[in-house]
Amino acid sequence: MSITEQALSYIRGISPYVPGKPITELAREMGLPVEKIVKLASNENPLGMSPKARAAVEAAITGLERYPDQFALIAALAERLGVMQNQIVLGNGSNDVLDLAARVFLALGRSAVFAQHAFAVYPLATLSTGAECIVAPAKHYGHDLAAMRAAIRPDTRIIWIANPNNPTGNFLPYAEVHAFMQSVPANVVVVLDEAYNDYLPPADRADTVAWIKDFPNLIVTRTFSKIYGLAGLRIGFAVAAPNVADLLNRVRQPFNVNNLAIAAACAALDDHLFVAESYELNRRGMEQIVAGLKRLGLDHIPSHGNFLTFAVNDGAAVNQKLLKQGVIVRPIGGYGLPKHLRVTIGLETENLRFLEALGHAL
Ligand SMILES: *Cc1c(COP(=O)(O)O)cnc(C)c1O
Repeated sequence: MSITEQALSYIRGISPYVPGKPITELAREMGLPVEKIVKLASNENPLGMSPKARAAVEAAITGLERYPDQFALIAALAERLGVMQNQIVLGNGSNDVLDLAARVFLALGRSAVFAQHAFAVYPLATLSTGAECIVAPAKHYGHDLAAMRAAIRPDTRIIWIANPNNPTGNFLPYAEVHAFMQSVPANVVVVLDEAYNDYLPPADRADTVAWIKDFPNLIVTRTFSKIYGLAGLRIGFAVAAPNVADLLNRVRQPFNVNNLAIAAACAALDDHLFVAESYELNRRGMEQIVAGLKRLGLDHIPSHGNFLTFAVNDGAAVNQKLLKQGVIVRPIGGYGLPKHLRVTIGLETENLRFLEALGHAL
């Protein structure tokens, strides 16, 4: 008898997360120099990190013998978002706070609802508690809120919504999300994952954090991994009603966020120029890639993030041909989209390399 048989059956049933292939791994596999590789696979910021954040990290190296103090970042976020400090919960990446929500509200005998093609962490967080996943069919690859509402059962305690969604890039207008909140039973938590919020045109954004006053069952999550360019430092946060935030904090590891990440995030929040440049670069790169895909005769799903999902006939085969040319994108067969690939919007030169390689691959 194997020791693994002693593990909880719902843990053994989990399919592991498949991350984007690291540049160093492809370099080893293909014998390519690292400089020849373009990675557009994990929705990272092609401009790197904010220069102000870099300086803050360098300064914070002095002091690593001390345990972290989250106060400065929580205070800055509370002020920026117009909420109380006891409404902010920091995470080791926003994935961490998704996991906290799952641990607080889910268990064997409960269920969570999310959309077909939704972010891979929702089933992981759900299944790790023993709860059941209820997958609501997508509409035009995006969340179908009516189907999600209809999927709620008496044992449902969380609804996971990514807006915009990854990997499809779909966006739900906030009037629809607000109407959805009004229709959801008050005993069901809605986790609204806004990792790509900063890439939305200002006119499309909404102050969802302000909705928490009316909907104490709403948890909004955001991250420093995307437009702020701090994916490798692992920092994100949740905003919730004070009593909900208190529960999340009870299961949070006391020092889940490290000193360097806190310092970087504080500085990044104030680097408005870097955020504006990142936004602009993404807007132009999106146009470049959309035009390039059109020239190649490929369909895509209109995207509101820093990535684009497009259709080829065989995602896995085209992916292999791109890898051979040193271009890493993301196959998304695991999301039920085996004919699609997802590409992150990169620098102009990286986007060109990708489009050329894709032309050859086809
Ligand atoms: C990238 C992403 C996140 C952010 O994850 P971190 O743990 O903050 O790096 C969260 N949600 C979605 C949908 C994402 O695509």
